[in-house]
Order: sequence, then structure tokens, then C-alpha cells
Amino acid sequence: MADMISVEEARDLVLSHVEVLPAETVSLLDAAGRVAAADITSDIDVSPFAHSAMDGFAVHADELAHASAEAPVQMDVIAEIAAGEVYEGPIDPGQCVRIMTGAPLPDAVDSVVKYEIVDVVEGDGKPGSRVAFTAPTKVHSNVRDAGEEAKADETIVHRGEVINPAGVGFLAGCGAVVVPVYRRPRIAIISIGSELVDPSEVPTPGKIRNSNSYALAASARAAGALPTILPIVEDTHEALSATIKNAVAAFDFVVTSGGASNGDFDFIKPVVKELGQLFMTTVNMRPGKAQTFGIVDGTPVFGLPGNPAAAYVGFEMLVRPALRKMQGYTHFERPRVTATLAHDEKKKDPRRIFLRGTLSKDESGAYVFTPAKNQSSGLFGVIQRSNCMALMPEGTESRTAGTPVECILLDVNEEVVL
Ligand code: AMP
Ligand code: MG
Repeated sequence: MADMISVEEARDLVLSHVEVLPAETVSLLDAAGRVAAADITSDIDVSPFAHSAMDGFAVHADELAHASAEAPVQMDVIAEIAAGEVYEGPIDPGQCVRIMTGAPLPDAVDSVVKYEIVDVVEGDGKPGSRVAFTAPTKVHSNVRDAGEEAKADETIVHRGEVINPAGVGFLAGCGAVVVPVYRRPRIAIISIGSELVDPSEVPTPGKIRNSNSYALAASARAAGALPTILPIVEDTHEALSATIKNAVAAFDFVVTSGGASNGDFDFIKPVVKELGQLFMTTVNMRPGKAQTFGIVDGTPVFGLPGNPAAAYVGFEMLVRPALRKMQGYTHFERPRVTATLAHDEKKKDPRRIFLRGTLSKDESGAYVFTPAKNQSSGLFGVIQRSNCMALMPEGTESRTAGTPVECILLDVNEEVVL
């Protein structure tokens, strides 16, 4: 087992120990945001027939070849076709058909002239009227072909594609009402600490509320996983060991927080080592050096630190990518931008620091990063008021106001390109 490893090494290590989960099928609406687990085909041509893209008059374009304002071409309106109807009668030379958007184009005609540029000579433009065309029209004008969106049996969404809301509509049009997607990981969220009480309780002396379980479950949900908050575990080897044994049997991924350092009551490392394989214990990052990862009975177990910000950053950088990989996503890095630092930032700790803070734009439109004043690893409120984390690379080089820093955007999906 290696000593302190980089954030990238830690992430790759975790990713190398998780697999894409099996497929499941979901209904159309539930497919939004999910990853297709198979190639999906259309059962029909979409649209199934050539149709009008405008409300207008369907004509044979040849007949209007010499139409002009001086020499308009008049025609009889012999029928009207609404969307949903089919007109199968003949259309002779000198005749046209009033047609609505979406209505099938009869075989005898090949072009649609929109209402607005057609003069009504006699009647009201409905069947029985006479209309005049003052300009030629092109073959295929205002006509949408059959199969323009998809051909029957064609693959419309490929395995691995993330299905977006438009994709849900695309699938609907193609009759793909049961959608194969990769399953969401069921993740156990376990807070370890004899000081912890449920948030619904008012803590007695020496106790604090368990806030991590809720932040981590929310983060898991934001990553597409299905979290279950398990009961708080007291700081004993036996209690933790029993909880981990049960959890790995019931879940796809197990996350704990607390008890991850070298204190007298920190048991996640020895428990993972004893029950399975321990792959990592410390990562070169701040907040959150104590990041434990291993496999127990085939299930990944990640031990986050107890300090709220440390648990949050550890989840964000190391657990979220794993949960995404399990669902078939292939992008694991949140979008990053370079911003100028709003004020001096001293650096004494050589670890890579994830500064919580706010990314904004100045009057000229340039990105500015303002670090939160309090960078304590014990605080959630600072992250609630932040929208990104800026990276202070390994080493002890301080940064002065106006120098560039790389910012990781939070709450922006990994697929987004900036
Ligand atoms: P530990 O990693 O167990 O040493 O915990 C570090 C700090 O985080 C201590 O001050 C703990 O009380 C606090 N802490 C641990 N677990 C939680 C939790 N679930 N919610 C809020 N704070 C916690
Ligand atoms: Mg503790």
C-alpha cells in the first residue's frame, strides 16, 4: 500500500476498482440524464410520411414555372388536408390542395406555397375557391421528407450516449418507450462517531448533529446514485466492523465519514484492512488528507474524513467519479476555468489545497475568484455560499492578488464544455 498519493492517482485507483453496473430498463421520462446501455433503434421511419412544413397550398411546381405578378397562375382549390388526415384523390393540372402543417403531402404534388403569398381570387381559400400564384416555387419547397429524423431499424441512440431531454423526445418519436440504461449505484452512507446525533435532535453536551450523512447523500443523489443513510455508528471496532460487513452485502458502494485518521477511536482503516483489501489511506489534498479506499467482499468501501468540508471535497474529487463510472458516464472532470485571484493567498501547507469560494466576472467579463475568508475544514456553510473550488498546487508558493488560479466549477456536469 502506497503512502500519500496525488488526487489524480487516488481517483484513478478508485476508478480502476469499479465497473459499469448492469443495464436496467426505465420508462421514457426516467431516461433523461441516464446513459444508454444498448444501441436503440427506431421501429418506423420518422416522420413516417412526407408532410407539409407550412400552412399553404400543395401544388405541382412545374405548373408555376412561369408565374409572376404580371402573369399570375390561377388554380382551383379542390380539397383541404388537416394534420392527421390523408388525401388520396386525384389532383389534376390546374388544381391545388389546401394543406395544413404536418398533413401528408399527396403523391400528385411536390411543393407547398405558404398562405401568405397566395392571392385568393374567388371564395375564401377553402375548397371551391380559386387562388392565384405570383411566383414560381421549387420542387420540395416547405416539404419535410419521410425518415428525416430516423429510418426504420436505424440506430438512433448509441450505447454510451447520455440521453438529454431532447433525446427523450427523439426516443418517443421512434417508439422506444422502454429504454435500456445503466443501473444507478445503490450507495450506503454511514457516519461514524460517538458524538453524533440525528439532525432532528438537539445535541446534549459533547454531542453534535450528524450533518455529513445528509450532505453526502445529497451529493450521491446529485451524482445519479441511490443513497441510503444507515444508522450512526459509534466509535468502536466491533460496531464498525459489523456495519461494514452488512453494508457490503447489500449495496454497490459504501461510503463512511469520520474515524479515518490515526486517533485512538479511528477504525475505518483497520476494519477495511481486516475485512478486505486496503488500497489507500492518505491523499495529497487539503482539506481531507485522510481518504481511505479498499474493497470488502467485492464491494468498494470509501472512508471519508469526518470534517465536513474534508468529507465533501473527498466525495467530490474521489467518490463522484466512481459513481459516474458505474452508471456508464465517461467524463470524470468537472469543467474548469482560469480566473484571477481577488486577494493574496498565503500557502504554508505543501499539500494541494482546494480553496472554497466564489467565481464571478468583473466589468470586463474576466473571471475573478474570491476565496471564502474561512477555509476551515469543519464548515459546510462556506460551501453552501461557494460555487467553485480553486486549486493551489502542491508546494508552498503563495499567490498574490491578480495572479491566475484554476477553478473547478461545482454543480456543473462533467460533460459540459466551456
Ligand atoms: P474524525 O474524522 O472522526 O476525527 O472527525 C473529525 C471532525 O469531524 C470532528 O470534529 C467530528 O466531530 C466531525 N464529524 C465527524 N463526523 C461528522 C458528521 N457525520 N457530521 C458532522 N461532523 C462530523
Ligand atoms: Mg471521529
